[in-house]
Amino acid sequence: MITRRLFCGCLAGAIPFAAATAAHAQSAECAVFTPDRQKATAPDEAIARLKAGNERFTAGKSINCNLMAQVKETADNQAPYAAIVGCIDSRVTPELVFDQRIGDVFCARVAGACVNVDIIGSLEYSTKVVGARAIVVLGHNFCGAIKSAVDDVKLGNITALLKNFQPAIATLTKADGHRDSHNYPLVQKVAEASARLTAESLTKRSPIIKQLVDAKQLKIAAAMHDITTGKVSWLS
Ligand SMILES: [Zn+2]
Repeated sequence: MITRRLFCGCLAGAIPFAAATAAHAQSAECAVFTPDRQKATAPDEAIARLKAGNERFTAGKSINCNLMAQVKETADNQAPYAAIVGCIDSRVTPELVFDQRIGDVFCARVAGACVNVDIIGSLEYSTKVVGARAIVVLGHNFCGAIKSAVDDVKLGNITALLKNFQPAIATLTKADGHRDSHNYPLVQKVAEASARLTAESLTKRSPIIKQLVDAKQLKIAAAMHDITTGKVSWLS
């Protein structure tokens, strides 16, 4: 009984301490991005924050912040530290897979995570105008848009959309086997090539983005999200 009482006493004392420590760590992570905090975040640090967020997400340790408090704190201004180009796929929601919250990241989503003049203009706004320090092009496996491009689908406006993936399709060789969306390694190769080529295209298609990269004020990365594990792997 004495042993049990002592044990219970220790445990009762330990839980509030652990909870207080966790609450402290959580409140720091829940602080919204301000222009000063954004400016103080180096491009490499911006990428590192996203990597750490995905590690929390895959570990089941996403941080539960008071979102309405963040809404109030960002009402007058926003200063996101990164911009993400992602697919519309319901399983790759960037804010969730990177464990980000209100005011943290810009997101541009379109089937297959490709870019056009509107999205590049949005990225110029995110970086040059508002000050985001990193751009991530986030592809994913089993992507319907990539599979449709591999199968050369013709349907309505999807036909024009799929032309965005021609540069990635052009990386295929005979060694990749039959061009068919059931050929998983081939589909994955196209998805990875598309993310990488899309990321590389940004400095070629946008003098504004190139100037920021050359000045080391901005970093561009390509990454792949695995919809079976939630894990993001980095291509560059
Ligand atoms: Zn997709």
